[in-house]
Amino acid sequence: MSDTDVAARLAALPPLRAVIAEAGLSARKGLGQNFLLDLNLTGKIARAAAPLDQGTVIEIGPGPGGLTRALLAEGAAHLVAIEKDRRCVDALQPLIAAADGRLTLVEADALAVDFEALGPPPRRIVANLPYNVATPLLIGWLKRAELFETLVLMFQKEVAERITADPGDAAYGRLGVLTGWRAEARLLFTLPPRAFTPPPKVESAVVEVRPRVPAPEDCRIEDLERVTAAAFGQRRKMLRRSLKSLTPDAEALLAHAGVAPTKRAEELSIAEFATLARLSNSAPEERTT
Ligand code: SAM
Repeated sequence: MSDTDVAARLAALPPLRAVIAEAGLSARKGLGQNFLLDLNLTGKIARAAAPLDQGTVIEIGPGPGGLTRALLAEGAAHLVAIEKDRRCVDALQPLIAAADGRLTLVEADALAVDFEALGPPPRRIVANLPYNVATPLLIGWLKRAELFETLVLMFQKEVAERITADPGDAAYGRLGVLTGWRAEARLLFTLPPRAFTPPPKVESAVVEVRPRVPAPEDCRIEDLERVTAAAFGQRRKMLRRSLKSLTPDAEALLAHAGVAPTKRAEELSIAEFATLARLSNSAPEERTT
């Protein structure tokens, strides 16, 4: 079937509100269901993730299929959507038929999916994320960041600000260090609660995360997680105190890393965190700066 035929079949699908009504898709809070029904917005997100015609485009939580339709309309040639809610899986069957082989739906929990197996690179993740699992999903993707070309993701605005924060920003913390170490992240645009059905309590924002190639080799992300958890777990305290939960000899670790023991977590650059992470993983006698 030609692209024009597919486009005509997509355009002939019932409106999203009719899909929701027909399938009885009452939004479930436990699944973070806040649907996007505005075609201008779904188109804007899909275009932010372009180009979509190569490799594999992966959508988390297609719901009634608004963003899914936009991704297909913007040229996604191999789109894999992962949805946990059986009601949505049923409601998406007409869209799968209209997409004529371009859309594969996987009924699964995205937290348990092997993303490498979904299709060949370049892989792009695009999603209006379920907010209750958005942060663990992002951290999981950062751990396998080499698999992905870009990630264009909707978060609560407050989380988006933490992901894109720089040292010294009020929102700078563990999430900003982990993301900034492994990728470049920028906030693309914000959306008010009324853009969604039903509206969430907070504002939302779309973030682009672009993994660094080659991957940084100065530390392991697991060590960076431990160091940032300790440092930001007590962010008001000086590092010589807060890092005691990591190592009894926090002062020696800081000295080896060339970091003043009186500094606080929010003052440290990502490179300094990476050095601490690398050194924290070696026995004191093996440490070299
Ligand atoms: N993409 C749709 C849209 O923009 O209108 C729906 C977005 S809604 C914020 C989140 C979607 O993720 C819902 O369809 C929900 O059922 C699904 N979901 C929630 N938890 C999930 C999980 N762990 N794995 C896969 N899908 C999940």
